[in-house]
Amino acid sequence: MKYKVYNVLPEFGTNTYLVWDEESRQAMIIDPAASDKVLVDEIKNLKLDLKYIINTHGHGDHIGGNALIKANFDLPLCIHSLDADMLLNTEKNLSSYFEETIISPEADILFKDNEIIKLGKNNVKIIHTPGHSSGGISILTGNLLFCGDTLFSESVGRTDLPGGNFNTLIKSIHEKLFILPDDTIILPGHGPSSTIGKETRDNPFVGFN
Ligand SMILES: [Zn+2]
Ligand SMILES: [Zn+2]
Repeated sequence: MKYKVYNVLPEFGTNTYLVWDEESRQAMIIDPAASDKVLVDEIKNLKLDLKYIINTHGHGDHIGGNALIKANFDLPLCIHSLDADMLLNTEKNLSSYFEETIISPEADILFKDNEIIKLGKNNVKIIHTPGHSSGGISILTGNLLFCGDTLFSESVGRTDLPGGNFNTLIKSIHEKLFILPDDTIILPGHGPSSTIGKETRDNPFVGFN
């Protein structure tokens, strides 16, 4: 699988990912963070067959481009069931604190833990990793793990927001992410990429050493 990262919401530094299967061009967009036409242009220029919008969780800095993508492509919007109501509520998605509030279209597919979708011949596995929010997910395909605001390079997501819980977050990371092979590449919702091996050694919040 191939991917590209975009920074369309510089105020928050949210990573938006386009991920695709080279053979079939079937693609998903993860966390379209803002209504920036560059995302639409890229999908067209790369000749992608966009199949899914996936939000790793419902916070306002990850969902602001949902409406734009839905308006330009005919495809389902997917989020874990426990974060679905954040899409439609500016208090719950915290955008009531932003300069511009954000209301997303409603979800079409509500994910559960361990659900698997396909892009071409590739499996894409949805892993429920609560702790930053109740319905936070990580998305695994091959050795790529898109982990939203659950795990960052040498850090972890905030747990002081509604739905957050530090112990739950640490449990998610230890029991569901650190069991993956060391060479799994982690692609977080903010900041640089890393690997599972590096984070199990060096992460000051959840590393074992
Ligand atoms: Zn968040
Ligand atoms: Zn975020």
